[in-house]
Amino acid sequence: MSLTIGIVGPPNVGKSTLFNALTKKQNAQASNFPFTTINPNIGIVDLPDNRLQKLAELVQPTRIVPATVTFVDIAGLVAGAHQGEGLGNKFLANIRDVDAIALVVRDFTDPDVVHVTGVVDPLEDIHILQTELALKDLETLEHALANLEGKIKARDPEATTLQSLLKRIKTEVEQGRGVRSIPLSQAESARLKSFRLLTAKAMLCVLNVSETKLDKTGERIKELIEAEPSLFASTPLVPISAKIEAELSTLNENEQIEYLASLGFKERGLDRLIREAFALLGLITYFTAGPKEVRAWTIQRDATAPQAAGVIHTDFERGFIKAEVISCADFLTYHGKDGAQSAGKLRQEGRDYVVADGDVIEFRFNV
Ligand code: GDP
Repeated sequence: MSLTIGIVGPPNVGKSTLFNALTKKQNAQASNFPFTTINPNIGIVDLPDNRLQKLAELVQPTRIVPATVTFVDIAGLVAGAHQGEGLGNKFLANIRDVDAIALVVRDFTDPDVVHVTGVVDPLEDIHILQTELALKDLETLEHALANLEGKIKARDPEATTLQSLLKRIKTEVEQGRGVRSIPLSQAESARLKSFRLLTAKAMLCVLNVSETKLDKTGERIKELIEAEPSLFASTPLVPISAKIEAELSTLNENEQIEYLASLGFKERGLDRLIREAFALLGLITYFTAGPKEVRAWTIQRDATAPQAAGVIHTDFERGFIKAEVISCADFLTYHGKDGAQSAGKLRQEGRDYVVADGDVIEFRFNV
């Protein structure tokens, strides 16, 4: 399970600069994870996680395998995309396939870099994308409602329930609300899933800030959120400077730390972006730690032990017997499994156990 994030936004806002910084970062990381370029628009990067490094230092495994995040550079956002304008249709199809959308908008001014609509206005850029996604969703909903007509005439009760749900969603979307901000019951979400509505996707806005006004970033974020509190309630706003990320990508690790410190930052904007996306999707990490491999696995926040085991292999889920769990902190404090066990920190958990972020787990199963 790798989280896939689609980078979208109008032309000339810094998407490629950001994407290149991301993939360079991965190449520089020299991780043990087999990095393959599937396609020039796809980059797989490690999820930054200090705990994994610490576990590896302790266990000294043959391999270290971090959790990964896949970024897809999706070009082609222009007003009119929903009508198939430009690469419009392909653009929207690509968006359907990602888990989350990172909408990059521009807040830097640079006389040498033309802005497509003439003025730097990040809120306007966000509205353009949202409108395109909403228009496409309306088209999908109208189609679906028309397809239901026959079943409604035949008095199919499920069709009637679906019809009233789709009508309600349509009205909300027409009024400018994204599906992600409409309160839905579990059953309603399940009914909507197959329509793959675009405004239902998790989205975060990446604000490409001016490298010359970094000290004003906090104020600027506050100002934008205050201008549209309802928009940013369901869409986190993440500031980043694509230019600085690009510069960082050319430095070695020590130089990066020094440069970041000189700017007053503790971590790279890219690392914060990856973490925010993880949190937005309700994902957490657990670890397996043995002599062959120390590895981070990605799961949903509410996953039970058998579901977590299923991420490693479906056999683990089917044949699940129990999980031996040590928190990461205990594993490190007591220098590994044996020490933690002697200290009474190893728990035997059954199939109802909800895995916590950072658990170090060994599964017992029977296949
Ligand atoms: P894209 O069309 O969104 O992929 O934008 P690019 O990444 O190709 O950037 C367009 C132009 O803006 C390039 O000349 C970049 O060097 C420049 N650019 C991108 N990010 C920044 C930034 O943060 N600050 C400044 N000053 N220029 C930037």
